[in-house]
This record gives sequence, C-alpha cells and structure tokens, in this order.
Amino acid sequence: MTEHPLKDPVAENTWDVIVVGAGFAGLYMLHRLKQLDLRVLVIEAGSDVGGTWYWNRYPGARCDVESLSYSYSFDESLQQEWRWPDRYAVQPDILRYAQFVARRFSLYPHIVFDTRIVEACYTEPDHAWRISTDAGVHYVAGVCIMATGCLSVPKSPDIHGIDRFRGRLLHTANWPREALDFSRDHVGVIGTGSSAVQSIPILAEQSARLTVFQRTPNFSIPAWNGPLSEEQDRRCKDRYPVLRNRARNTFSGDFREEGGMKLLPASPAEREKALQHRWEQGGFHYQYGFTDAGYDTRANEIAAEFVRNKIRRTVADPEVAERLCPRDHPFGTKRLCVDTGYYETYNRANVELVDLKRTPVEAVTARGIVTTGMEYDLDTLVLATGFDAMTGALVRMNVRGRNHERLRDRWQGGASTYLGLMVANFPNLFMINGPGSPSVLCNMMLALEQHVEWISDCIEFMGQAGHRVIEASPDAERAWTDHVNRAADRTLYPRADSWYVGANVPGKARVFMPYVKGFKAYSEICDSVVEKGYEGFVFA
Ligand code: NAP
Repeated sequence: MTEHPLKDPVAENTWDVIVVGAGFAGLYMLHRLKQLDLRVLVIEAGSDVGGTWYWNRYPGARCDVESLSYSYSFDESLQQEWRWPDRYAVQPDILRYAQFVARRFSLYPHIVFDTRIVEACYTEPDHAWRISTDAGVHYVAGVCIMATGCLSVPKSPDIHGIDRFRGRLLHTANWPREALDFSRDHVGVIGTGSSAVQSIPILAEQSARLTVFQRTPNFSIPAWNGPLSEEQDRRCKDRYPVLRNRARNTFSGDFREEGGMKLLPASPAEREKALQHRWEQGGFHYQYGFTDAGYDTRANEIAAEFVRNKIRRTVADPEVAERLCPRDHPFGTKRLCVDTGYYETYNRANVELVDLKRTPVEAVTARGIVTTGMEYDLDTLVLATGFDAMTGALVRMNVRGRNHERLRDRWQGGASTYLGLMVANFPNLFMINGPGSPSVLCNMMLALEQHVEWISDCIEFMGQAGHRVIEASPDAERAWTDHVNRAADRTLYPRADSWYVGANVPGKARVFMPYVKGFKAYSEICDSVVEKGYEGFVFA
C-alpha cells in the first residue's frame, strides 16, 4: 500500500492533520481520521471535551433541538446505548454524552487541552500549516481543520463602565464550573436572547430579586419539555436508522420535522387550528409549520401575532406583556428562543423588566446599572449578550494563507467561502459548519456529521489519487457566496438585525452567513460536487 501523500516522515510535533476544537465536530472528525490511520492531534481551549456544552453552564442551559435528534447518528450501537432522560437535554447531560463518546472511541489520548491557537500559517514550499499555541508550542500539519464552533466567542456589551462593577460579573457563555448561590442576591440580566430566556426562569427562582434589562424582545415558543419515557425512547430506537435517514431528507435535519402549510390561502379557522396545533408541539415545530411565513410578510405577521397574543394571555400585567411583544423584526428572522416558563416568570413578585429602548443604560457603576430613569444596585450582573458568531473564532486566530494573507483581512467585507468548507488561497484548511453552510439553521449534529464525512472522504480520496494539496478555486468561492446571498435575499431573514448577519458586532460587515436552503438541498449539492470530480476545487 502506498503512503498517503500527507504523511510526512514523523518529526516531533508534526502531524498529518491538526483539528482545532474538541466539541462534537472535532470529536467526530478525530474519530473518522483515526480510521484512515492518519496521525491526528486535536487542540482544545477548554479543559475537557464538549465545546459549547463545556462553556455554557448557566442555569437552565438546554439544547433547543430534541435530544433523540441532537445526538450522533454515525454509530448504531452508540445511539442504542445512550439514554437521554429528557425530551430536551440539559447541559450537564449533553456534556456527559460528549465525555462518554470520547471515552468510548478512545479519543482523549489524541487531544491537548487548555491550549489556544494564536497563529495558524500556511507555508508554501512544504504545503504545511504551522500552528502556534499560547503555551508556546509549535506544531506542523499537512491539513488543518477548524472545528471551532459557530457560537464560541462570547461578546460583552459595549457599555461604559462595565469593568468598574464590583459585584459578581458573569457571562452565560463562560459560566464558572462551581455551584453559585444567588439566594441573597439582586441579580441583573442584560439580554433577552436564547441564553437569557433559558436562564431567567431559573435565576428568578434562585435569587432574591431579578431585574431583566431588555433592549429587544424576542419570540419564544414553549418547549413543553419533560422526561423521555421508556416507551418514547424505545419507539425511536427501534426505528433509528429509518428516522436518521428521514432527517437527512429534511430542511432542518431533524427527523421530527413535519411538512408545513401555507398560512395565507387558509381560512381564519384553519389558520387558528394549525397555529394552535404547532404551538402545542412547541419549539421549532412552530417555526417550520408555516412555509410562507419565511417569505411573505403578511403570512409572517399572522404567525407573529399569534405568539404576541399568547404573551398577552400569559403575562398578567398588560403593560409588561406589551413590552415583551417583539415588533422590530419578522417572526423567525432572529433565532427563535425555546423556553420553559419564560413569560410566566414575569408574573413573579421578585422579577422586574426594564425596557432599555425607553430608558437606555447610561453606565455600569461599581454598584450596578444606571439607566436614564433609575439606578439599580446589583450583587450579580449576568451578561447574556451573545457571541461574535460564525466567523469570530476563525478571525481571532490569526489564520494566514498563501502569501501570508490573513483570513481576517479577506473577510473584512464579509465572510466568503466555497460551500462553507474552504476559502480560496487557504489550501488544506477545512472548516466544519463554516459560513456559507446551513449550520445554525438546522440540527447542528447532522450538519457537522455531513461536513466531517465530506472532509474525511475528501482526505481519503486525496490519498488514493496522490494529491497533497486541495483548495477552493476563487471562481467557485465567488459563485457560491453570491448564491448564498441571493438565497437569503429571497427570504425575510435579512430584515432582522441578527447575529446571522453580524449585526450584533460593531463594525462587522453585514452579510447573511448561514445557507438558507436547508440541509437536504445543501448536502445534495456537496454530493454532486464530488460526483463531478470535486468541481470547484483545485488539487496539486
Ligand atoms: P443573542 O441571541 O445574541 O442575544 C443577546 C442579547 O443581548 C440580545 O437580547 C441583545 O439585545 C442583548 N444585548 C447585547 N448587547 C447589549 C447591550 N449593549 N445592551 C443591552 N442588551 C444587549 O445571544 P444568546 O442568547 O447567547 O444566543 C445566541 C445563540 O446561541 C442563540 O441564538 C442560539 O443559536 C444559541 N443558543 C442556543 C441555545 C439552545 O440550544 N438552547 C441556548 C442558548 C444559545 P439586542 O437584540 O437588542 O441586540
């Protein structure tokens, strides 16, 4: 058997492939590459596996995709063995699952923890990636795979004086590992996105007093979470291969997706019945229930107003209810929140909602938050202020391609990729769930499995064909990026100032980053690229 051309004579710290990140994408990538008998090293900033589920330990952290779907499908015995206790898993269970997988497939010995990449640089003569870490260690690899996650760089708010606060300052995405006691605290939460919507009901129970500082209300749909019964578990496991296959043929990559209906042609009675039915299914079932709501403002308004009416019926104080009703963006164009008791929390006597649009924050002081109307003394301030999404981790890392071109400079005017997998002029650098792929718009587990399998098949093909270098052609990258943008422009998505378009990060170019046409359409495109001899990629 001939050696894979990526294989170098073994030198110290020289690897065939380096994978950055030991979240679910990095773990599966490692598993697949081990099967190709390549020398692989994973470098991870955290002290354990799990990625987003390692860092986001805030109270109430839970996946918004059902666990039987949000789990690996690549190994039948793995999916039979693992038992999820709840319909939507909590963070500690998801972290335990990641650890279980890492042990089961003997992945731990191949991972270096507590290490951040400070530079990754492609060198032309030897077609290698030279990777430097904050531990001062230098690695060389033929291929570098970024499994760095779409939501892994927490963003703090640009509020004057935030570093002066003398109470406990926490970010949901960087939560301490030890248990925290809030029972005597007046807790403030800035933000009302998914992280806030999940943590607010629990913090309200755990703290003496809770003040929520809301700039923009979001749409939230109840999860209707509960324990997963033996029978539900068995029913799914008996048919897992069929169900997973069904998931691969859906828009969202979730086998629970059911075909939606158009709201506009339906009669008022039919609409009401369908809206209520989807509401009772909960979470994303509501969003995917109405096919015209993503394109047509009139249909969208019907779905939006139904949710607003639910808020009005749930929240006792009509004025608070109106403040919680989103009006500045179409329904579903910002990531939908999926909650347990979120709106009900505002009926508690110890919870207050501050509308920052009416009374903006002036400053954070040593004691708390000063708005134009009031001063709030706080013991704990929780920042649920989101992430520099999709590109944040990649541009921070000082990634340099051919001729030392920096990825950060290349993406100054907006992220562009070929298939969300590669960038022209950055040979042998793959991304998992990169911008330009469906990623965050579908079940991330299935999305990452599809990318990992595509990349490992590609690396295997390179071995068989004797290629040492692959890169995206500039033309293919340009055409794909145009296609991604045109597809988004046909929907209502770009109308929201969301993290999907980078609007939450000052100075970030406004480009719609995920691919909106869904999992099935995207994976078929990836397959056809391979069938056409890796069309749009150049090998050397
Ligand atoms: P996010 O959706 O970006 O929400 C950030 C919140 O902080 C927004 O309400 C934002 O208000 C507010 N904010 C930011 N800067 C502010 C400032 N200077 N002053 C006042 N408010 C400010 O972040 P996230 O909640 O962490 O969620 C991010 C994504 O992570 C989600 O969309 C989801 O994809 C993922 N996630 C998933 C789960 C799950 O699976 N269950 C849970 C948590 C997160 P504006 O809207 O006005 O900017």
